[in-house]
Amino acid sequence: MPTPEKHALLSASSAHRWLACTAAPRFEAQFPETTSEYAEEGRLAHAICELKVLKHFAGLAQRTYTLRLNKLKKNPLYSAEMDKTSDVYLEHLVEKAMTYDSPPGVSPEVRVDFGEYVPEGFGTCDCIMIGGDTLDITDYKHGKGVPVSAENNSQMRLYALGALKRYRPAYGDRIKKVRMTIDQPRIQNEVSTETIPVEDLLRWGESIKPIAAKAYMGLGDFHPGEHCRFCRGKAQCRARAEQNTALEEFKDCVPGGKAQTDNKGILTDAEVGDLLERGKQLVAWYKDLEDYALHAVLDGGNIPGWKAVAGRSNRAFTDRDAAISAAIQAGYDEALLYDRIPKSLSEIEKLMGKAEFADKLGSFVIKPQGKPTLVPISDKREPYSPAAADFSGVAEDG
Ligand code: SF4
Repeated sequence: MPTPEKHALLSASSAHRWLACTAAPRFEAQFPETTSEYAEEGRLAHAICELKVLKHFAGLAQRTYTLRLNKLKKNPLYSAEMDKTSDVYLEHLVEKAMTYDSPPGVSPEVRVDFGEYVPEGFGTCDCIMIGGDTLDITDYKHGKGVPVSAENNSQMRLYALGALKRYRPAYGDRIKKVRMTIDQPRIQNEVSTETIPVEDLLRWGESIKPIAAKAYMGLGDFHPGEHCRFCRGKAQCRARAEQNTALEEFKDCVPGGKAQTDNKGILTDAEVGDLLERGKQLVAWYKDLEDYALHAVLDGGNIPGWKAVAGRSNRAFTDRDAAISAAIQAGYDEALLYDRIPKSLSEIEKLMGKAEFADKLGSFVIKPQGKPTLVPISDKREPYSPAAADFSGVAEDG
């Protein structure tokens, strides 16, 4: 299975953070690296993707492929969904390879070195494709929390710089542009891609060199922001705490003295917008603080003024079948004890297959508009439309 980039102080995957907060890498180094089940799942999914690419593009023998795949499937974290998402990933690569005039060279899991730009920087490209004048790198993301865009993506650009360094000696000036793609099949049907000329990529690489040097030496300043989300020190970072407790910043959102003079003491909608924007970071920070304190207390630590208690829980049968049998023996009709619940739409689609499902049941499927959710204006989704919600699912009858 692919190994994590855990030894690079300035990893490509954390570049968006250390480019914004140069103090982060050395600060984070005080906190132990942890791995989550999600990360392990991601590594397993990557290994399956790699195997499929090797079989399709590099002629891995069927027998070896099956043996290796079966071994991966024995991992307790394996799920059938991984098989599907790796198929989608392979499909996207095959489609891309077909756009070249002649078959491109394709290599999965290529280690690349971008140390020329970032001290000790290295990483692994999930797939590199080279053909014509284009060097193409694809990153598979198994996470389904946040959609990741390839545009201005520092991780992808660092990989691309490393890939360029590796392949330029062989391909020379034939490589004129670099295409970077993020494939996240669990949450996005379409891949996200950015293509830039090689000169622009090299220029970007030069522009980040001084920032990377500063971050490597631990000389930089702390700059809290959205990028704190995956920082290992996010709960205990003083700079982040100071920013979130700087109530003067909130005062800018609600100018003093207005309560007596304007708008009968009511906040304006513009003020509400500003407060929501400001409060978002505060809520995220408070949750991180709570999470840290709970773990500290459970580990035997003392957070003055706080303790851990058992949360609410629901009663459950120790053996549901035995309990139902006992109820039947006590004279209750079986029909009263069971609900007959049909399988879900997704389960039935899985059972029938996509084509048969679309053919036989497609006319019974509607997709109602989701519940309205408040998001920042920068979110790419269409604004919620109450009219569309009222009419969603109503078939046109001419
Ligand atoms: S929590 Fe944020 S401000 Fe603090 S070190 Fe990490 S990235 Fe920088």
